[in-house]
Amino acid sequence: MGNPMKNSCYMGIDVGSISTNCVVITPEGGVLSEIYRRGDGHPIESVQKCLSQLTAQLSDEYCVKGVCTTGSGRVLAGAVVGTDVIKNEISAHARATIHLYPDVRTIFEIGGQDSKVTIVRDGVVVDFSMNLLCAAGTGSFLDSQARRLNITIEELSTRAMTSEDPTDIAGRCTVFAESDMIHKQQGGHEQKDIMMGLCHALVRNYLSNVCNGKEIKPPIVLQGGVSANKGICRAFKEALQCDIVVPPYNMVMGAYGAALIASKSGIEKTKYRGKEASTHIIITKGFECGDCPNCCEIIEVLDADEVIGRTGGRCGKWEGRTEPREALKGTGPIGTVFGTSAGGLTEYDTCRLLDNVPDLIQIGVSKKRRS
Ligand code: SF4
Repeated sequence: MGNPMKNSCYMGIDVGSISTNCVVITPEGGVLSEIYRRGDGHPIESVQKCLSQLTAQLSDEYCVKGVCTTGSGRVLAGAVVGTDVIKNEISAHARATIHLYPDVRTIFEIGGQDSKVTIVRDGVVVDFSMNLLCAAGTGSFLDSQARRLNITIEELSTRAMTSEDPTDIAGRCTVFAESDMIHKQQGGHEQKDIMMGLCHALVRNYLSNVCNGKEIKPPIVLQGGVSANKGICRAFKEALQCDIVVPPYNMVMGAYGAALIASKSGIEKTKYRGKEASTHIIITKGFECGDCPNCCEIIEVLDADEVIGRTGGRCGKWEGRTEPREALKGTGPIGTVFGTSAGGLTEYDTCRLLDNVPDLIQIGVSKKRRS
């Protein structure tokens, strides 16, 4: 893929549950191209469409010298485009934020279906927490209430900003919020006040659930899809009594961070498959591993008859592997397979997450859980 006569650029792709985002940058970190695309439940097609749009935007002067994928679909996306590096989303988001705001101490990231807080001290991630179970501190909370009010999420954001007397909404969960909202509507509260009340409810939930026990200190950067909502920024400012920074690439920070990681990974020869990968017919097949009692379902990604990647499995032995199945079958799990914790995110997931970020994270929980 390398042409020495062309300028180098690096690609980052973030595949989440709600959107697929791609960013291309110069080696210095300048953004050349960015795509934010709402997912339609077809991650492979979504990645291919992003790749096609991105390469169409990119001038012929540039040549992709490295790719990094992140997000929950990072392995799948990596197989489709040919990735050099795969990183979890905590690392990717933190890398982007620290690059833009070296003195950041708290990163709030609120997406459509999950939300996270990352604590940074002196440019290093020292702690994080994520909420994968309850929708009340995520974008889907506002989406469902906006639908209930028959308005768009953009209208909700604009109208909430005009409220001078926000309504107190009991928003501990979407079900309570909806019944309380109906009660407040019937009680004659203005719609703009109810909308701002919903923003306050989301922020209250996020701070009490996701940030519980975390040391929240400014400067605070808010990113992820929900950061585009001005009502949410206002609610955070009022709750924390400090300024909240929304970065310029707030919707695609994961992809931007991934591109930055690719640019600093010392990639000599990229595995990037080129823009042609957007036109290939790529399918997935599942099979059961069965090499230990977990009996994990493994997803195999195929381009024609060629296996271009695998994902799934609690021990990670199939992740990204393309050898014939027989070469890995019957070898048992790799590493230690952890059980499920009460918090929803398995300890195994957390440990793998931490294992993936040794360059950024230095916290006691990883050592504690490994011992
Ligand atoms: S060996 Fe790994 S992938 Fe296979 S069933 Fe066990 S934990 Fe799952």
